[in-house]
Amino acid sequence: MTEIKKRFHSINDTIRQTEKLHERVPGSVQLLAVSKTWPADNLRTVAELGQRQFGENYLQEALEKIEALSDLNLEWHFIGPIQSNKTRDIAAKFDWVQSVDRLKIAHRLHEQRSAALPPLNVCIQVNIDDEVTKSGTSADDCMALADEIAQLDRLCLRGLMVIPTKQTDVDAQRDSFRRAHALFTRLQQEFDGIDTLSMGMTGDVQAAIAEGSTMVRIGTALFGERTPQRK
Ligand SMILES: *Cc1c(COP(=O)(O)O)cnc(C)c1O
Repeated sequence: MTEIKKRFHSINDTIRQTEKLHERVPGSVQLLAVSKTWPADNLRTVAELGQRQFGENYLQEALEKIEALSDLNLEWHFIGPIQSNKTRDIAAKFDWVQSVDRLKIAHRLHEQRSAALPPLNVCIQVNIDDEVTKSGTSADDCMALADEIAQLDRLCLRGLMVIPTKQTDVDAQRDSFRRAHALFTRLQQEFDGIDTLSMGMTGDVQAAIAEGSTMVRIGTALFGERTPQRK
């Protein structure tokens, strides 16, 4: 068995076992394969194992991979910081954008999403630990932004995405995720169609599932360590 195949089965096993441990509905946590820096061939290997959802952070390399893999029916999620001059390509080529954190970006994506395509699925990125260096709206501003996005008919608001402070202590990890889940519950009470709480990466996947994640974004545990030269 190839390394990548082993890792694919191993991360899926971890997700299923953690669902069970925390009495989550079996299959309620989806895997987003985060493929930044990896060449299209590696993504193809994972796609052949049955993976459909891929997450990319850097627009230029993402566009090349989307083109190279256009024979497969993949679902592409943009998960990196968004500059305004990048919204046109994102609106044209992606199925989801998880890193919407301000109204200006939401407006541009709405205006640039073709009427020939289904609405672009979006998550609001929330800076759940209020880190100065990190993108994301504050938890306080999240509901107001959701109100605005809900009125844009070329966008379909699906939920929240969070990247908490890196911590190794599981209780500390769970504390951030618990706050994200509380905000997600409020969002679900106020808006229709909210079904996605995107949280959990290689280092904190179990804590995220314990606290209600519906989508974990996994890079390293699936593709291996990213080398600095590869970004
Ligand atoms: C890179 C990245 C991931 C994956 O991180 P790993 O620790 O490699 O699993 C998940 N989410 C976002 C937003 C990322 O940029």
